[in-house]
Amino acid sequence: MRDGAGKVTIVGAGPGDPGLITLRGFTVLEQAEVVLYDYLVNPILLRQAGLLGREPGDVELVCLGRHGEGRILQQAEIQQKMIEAAHAGKNVVRLKGGDPSVFGRTAEEIAALEEAGIRYEVVPGVTAALAASSVAGIPLTHREWASSVAFVTGRECRDKNGTPLDLASLARFPGTLVFYMGVTTATEWSAELISHGKSADTPVAIVRRCGLPRQEIMNSTLGELPTMLGNEKVRPPAIMIVGEVVRVQADADCLTARQLFGQTVLVTRPERQSMALVMSLGELGAAALLQPAIAIDPPDDWSAVDSAIKTLPTYDWLVFSSANGVHFFLDRILQSGGDLRLLGGCRLAAIGPATAEALGNYHLRADLLPEEYRAEALAAELSTEARGQRVLLLRASRGREVLGEMLTAAGAHVEQVVVYQSSDIATPEPEVAAALAAGRIDWVTVTSSAIARSLIKLFGDDLQQSQLAAISPLTAEVLTEAGYPPTVVATEYTTEGLLAAILGANDT
Ligand code: SAH
Repeated sequence: MRDGAGKVTIVGAGPGDPGLITLRGFTVLEQAEVVLYDYLVNPILLRQAGLLGREPGDVELVCLGRHGEGRILQQAEIQQKMIEAAHAGKNVVRLKGGDPSVFGRTAEEIAALEEAGIRYEVVPGVTAALAASSVAGIPLTHREWASSVAFVTGRECRDKNGTPLDLASLARFPGTLVFYMGVTTATEWSAELISHGKSADTPVAIVRRCGLPRQEIMNSTLGELPTMLGNEKVRPPAIMIVGEVVRVQADADCLTARQLFGQTVLVTRPERQSMALVMSLGELGAAALLQPAIAIDPPDDWSAVDSAIKTLPTYDWLVFSSANGVHFFLDRILQSGGDLRLLGGCRLAAIGPATAEALGNYHLRADLLPEEYRAEALAAELSTEARGQRVLLLRASRGREVLGEMLTAAGAHVEQVVVYQSSDIATPEPEVAAALAAGRIDWVTVTSSAIARSLIKLFGDDLQQSQLAAISPLTAEVLTEAGYPPTVVATEYTTEGLLAAILGANDT
């Protein structure tokens, strides 16, 4: 082993649903300095692990090719990149779809690492066969129907140089066959299995894009499979479960009881705040796509914030109108060497539960949380005791002025400092724009007025291809005025309220 060389961890990312990576895999990913990931890996994982939006140079992310887009790196190039990064002392993660040891060419990567004397570790993942079995409700083994299971690659049917697939033996295999990479060769392998004695009536389940947006589950038989794949124009990635176990497929109504099963929902909150919503959507069975509509950044100049921090004891009230405001302000106090005792004499107001929760993360309790989570309600409740009080508003670089105006009118001495900047994202993610234009997004979540305005600029009339869910009447108004009235408006102005509104519309 060379001294100072980095380490490579080959991590199975699971099949698409970002919730299906192992805890070990996720921990390693969070610490990565270089990530080489397959195109089938869900990019949401990279966001969840905090790898996107870092300072340039902190982490290098390399997507290893995508069918139809750009050049697909050759295996030798991937290995070369991995070795170079490790030799440069980097902590390298090779993130692979599903499990690394199943049709993943991991053996070649390991051989190259061993030859180069580089330390490595393999973290397993949920392979596509297992994920497909659980989403389709099909057990791969069953006491009565199958006591063994084989993972088979359909690719070798046409690979003249590779090992020919022994379909005669597979036709006699006493258990479930799961075909990977078998879509384009299905005509060949299904006919061969039948010609070697497997019944043409053997049921087949096809799971396409398992755990990803636009997941599909289809049923067929071995005899009908080629026609069905052709008629439905099924494109990879798909996995096929062939065998009697498909007969015990779970009752779809019960299985899809997760209320947003199969739906695709666009999450538009700023990157760092989107994960809670993505997770809740996952629990409800929906696949999330991300298109942050606005970016949140620290102020260019901290001097106004710093002087407010120095004079904190002179304020009676600190008013937080967003969770971001809490994080940026309190982190600045800690970074500049102070601590929470500086807030000792101030009372704290929060606009809504997410802001109060953000305070809670610093072990602070809001003294005032209005009944209705909007600026007018906060100002009205604070006004009763604001006269003559010194009030500091911790705010974004843009936003509504109503809070300051109402409190000033009520006789408070109001000061405002910008603790973070909010700006519109200028260009949409190409994948999201295409999905929206093609009507493949069921819901667009619109979680603030600023986000509404930015989405209108980003997507214009394509917003009509989806249902819009607005977090509050104010946000709804921005959409409606632009000609895109939302399908639902939350009655409680939180992301939970927004989800409840979407679920309500789904039930009707
Ligand atoms: N190492 C991966 C398999 C890589 S081979 C694993 O363990 O899952 C690529 C094949 O895996 C695809 O052609 C398809 O058959 C299957 N596959 C991978 N991800 C999939 C997904 N999300 N949905 C359906 N099939 C998938």
